[in-house]
Amino acid sequence: MPCDDMCGHQDSKLTAHGEPIEEAAASVCLKSPDQIIAVGVNCGHPETVVPLIKQMNNIDRDFIAYPNAGVTWDAEKQIFDSQGQSITSFIHSYIDTGIKYIGGCCHVGPDQIRAIRDIIDRYSS
Ligand SMILES: [Zn+2]
Repeated sequence: MPCDDMCGHQDSKLTAHGEPIEEAAASVCLKSPDQIIAVGVNCGHPETVVPLIKQMNNIDRDFIAYPNAGVTWDAEKQIFDSQGQSITSFIHSYIDTGIKYIGGCCHVGPDQIRAIRDIIDRYSS
């Protein structure tokens, strides 16, 4: 079954487990070359998406990004630090970076998803 490989990340270079993201993505693609159709990042700050995807530009797969709304997880308190912000201002840079699948994770609700869809549709036409 085709699937994507999504990495959580701790900053704009490393996965949540501390590996360089391009090494983690390449490793998964090597293990399942016929099954991985896209690689990307999820639930990180929207500002980290483009640098992370650019690090993976030698990987021959589509790219996918589901950032959160710019919130930070406080592991000690088990809460996000805020309600976040709109991620729509980042969408053009994601498209220009070659990201094919764009969505949202924590604190990105239906209104933002609709706005992202509208931006993509306008940008594509
Ligand atoms: Zn999330």
